[in-house]
Amino acid sequence: MYKKYDLCTIPKCGSPHEARGYCVKHYKRFIKTGDPITPSAKDKRHFIKKDNKLYIPLGLNARQGYAIVSLEDYWVSDYNWYKGKNGYSSSRIKGVHVYMHRMVMGNPTSGEVDHINRVKTDNRRENLRVVSRSENMLNVGLRSSNTSGYTGVSYLKNAKKYQAYVNSCGKTKYLGLFNSPEDAFQARQTALGR
Ligand SMILES: [Zn+2]
Repeated sequence: MYKKYDLCTIPKCGSPHEARGYCVKHYKRFIKTGDPITPSAKDKRHFIKKDNKLYIPLGLNARQGYAIVSLEDYWVSDYNWYKGKNGYSSSRIKGVHVYMHRMVMGNPTSGEVDHINRVKTDNRRENLRVVSRSENMLNVGLRSSNTSGYTGVSYLKNAKKYQAYVNSCGKTKYLGLFNSPEDAFQARQTALGR
């Protein structure tokens, strides 16, 4: 019925015919899903433009939601993205793992890319900034509610000093008292080898 030189019957496909009127790709999808044009993980995904932002699908059929980028970063949709276990929008380009937020900021060689509003999938330029590692830690620390605003630093009212500590294996190890939260935080960073 179909000859070797026939083409796939899916509109605009143009690949050589393999079986049942489909090319190898469409035939495999037909066998697997019963529908030759079911999207596959490798198909290009399209962004949605809304409120001056671009929504980039994460995962096949956006099953992991969307990342947001600025209009000028439409080019990130050339790649297929997923949400990694750490919550960041990730992709694989020529076998290399990449993060969307770092690509948007031009992959800075030194420093980390920080999400100002702490939303890890909000990769709009105005929400990203390049910071040193300690500045980034500090911002993360300020989020958590503790008495000093720094992770691992508490204010001792009676002593009027700042105490640095680390929690490990369910035990708290105290690192001493300091006059400022910055000093306490720095001592903790040093103790942690950061
Ligand atoms: Zn085809």
